Amino acid sequence: MSERLAIEGGAAIRQTPLPYAQQSIDDADVAAVTEVLRSGWLTTGPSVSKFEQQFASFVTVRHAVAVNSGTAALHAAMFALQVGPGDEVIVPAMTFAATANAVLFQNAAPVIVDVDAETLLIDPQAVERAVTRRTKAIIAVDFAGDPSPYDELRTVANKHGITLIADACHALGAIYKDCPVGSLADISTFSFHPAKHITTGEGGMAVTDDDELAHRMRRFRNHCISADPKERAKKRSWRYDVVDLGFNYRLSDLQCALGVAQLQRLPASLDRRRAIARMYDAAFAEMNGLRTPPTRKDCIHAYHLYVIQLELDRLAVDREAVYAAMHAEGIAVNVHYIPLHHHTLYQTRLGVGVGDFPNADRAYERILTLPMFPKMTDKDVDDVIEAVRKVLGAYRRDA
Ligand SMILES: *Cc1c(COP(=O)(O)O)cnc(C)c1O
Repeated sequence: MSERLAIEGGAAIRQTPLPYAQQSIDDADVAAVTEVLRSGWLTTGPSVSKFEQQFASFVTVRHAVAVNSGTAALHAAMFALQVGPGDEVIVPAMTFAATANAVLFQNAAPVIVDVDAETLLIDPQAVERAVTRRTKAIIAVDFAGDPSPYDELRTVANKHGITLIADACHALGAIYKDCPVGSLADISTFSFHPAKHITTGEGGMAVTDDDELAHRMRRFRNHCISADPKERAKKRSWRYDVVDLGFNYRLSDLQCALGVAQLQRLPASLDRRRAIARMYDAAFAEMNGLRTPPTRKDCIHAYHLYVIQLELDRLAVDREAVYAAMHAEGIAVNVHYIPLHHHTLYQTRLGVGVGDFPNADRAYERILTLPMFPKMTDKDVDDVIEAVRKVLGAYRRDA
C-alpha cells in the first residue's frame, strides 16, 4: 500500500520547496566584498590577481584567467586556439548550450557526438569516429562533476594532433587518477554561477599551463588590447594597440574578492556534497525504479549535480510525471540536460535531430537531478529520499 501522493491531494513531504541548487553566502563573503567597495579598486585590481593565483594553485596549473562567465571562459579558449571558419570542434550531446555556442561564436562548427549511456560523459570512440581533417579541438564536459575519460581522450587528441579542452564547469574539486580536474586538458574552464561549486554572482575562469594560450586569453577578455592596463600605468603611457577583435569579459574586484572568500570554503563544501551523495547512494541502493550516478574507482566525483536515471520499464509513468509528483511533494527536482540536438538552434545550424545520438536520447527520457548543495541539512536529504521512496513507490508497475 502506498501513501497518497501530494499531486493527488495527499500531504506533501515539505511545505517549503527545496531547490535543486543554492549558493552559500556567509559573513566572511559579505565582509570581503564590502572591503573592496571601500578600497577604491572596483575592477582590474589586486583582488583579480589574488583570485587567479589562488585558483591556479588549487587546480595545480600555471595560469588562471578570470572572466565574467563560464561561457566567456569557453569563448576565450576557442579564441586562444584560433578556432575559426572552416574548423570543427567536437562536443558531447549531453551538455549545456554554452559548450557548443562557444564554437559558434568563432564561426566554427560544433560537431556533436554521443555520450556513454551510463556515465553520460563524452564517448572517446565516438570522438575518434568524428575526427576529420578540419577538427581543431575536443571539448569534454565533466558531466555532473564526474571527470571525463581524460586518458582515452588524450590518446585520440595526440593521435590526430588536436587540442583537448575541458568544460569543467561542473567539476571544480574533482580528481582523475590523482590529478585535479583543471590540470588535465590544454585549457579547462569553470563557472561561478550561483548553482556551481563556488560563486561570484556571475563569473568564470579559464586555466592552462601554456604561457601563450594564457596570454591570448588575457588579451581577449580586454578587447585584445596589446598592453596590460597595469603595465601601461607603470610605464605612464597612454599608448595601446587593439590587435584583434576581443570583448569586455573582465571579472570585477568585487566578484573576485567573493571568489577568494568562497574558495576558502571549497574543501569543506566538497566534503559536504560527497557526504550527501553517500547518503543518497545508500538509501537508493535498495530501491527499485532508479539508478544512482555511477562512480569510478580512480576518480573522485565533485557532485555539482546528483543525477539519477529512472528505470522506466519498472514504472507505470514517464519522467514528466515523476518530475511533477516530486515538485508537488516540495522537492524542486530538475533535468540536466535537454541534449543539444533537441534544440532548434543546432537543428537549424547543424542539421541534427532527435534520435541522432541514441545514448543521449535514451538518457534524456530518464534523467532527474535531485537537490544537491552544501547547505542542505540531513533533514533536507531525508526529505528528498522520502519523496523519492513515496513517488516511485506509488508509480511502480507492481504497486
Ligand atoms: C554553467 C555551465 C556553463 C556556463 O557557465 P556560465 O557561467 O553560466 O556562463 C558552461 N558549461 C556547462 C557544462 C555549465 O554547467
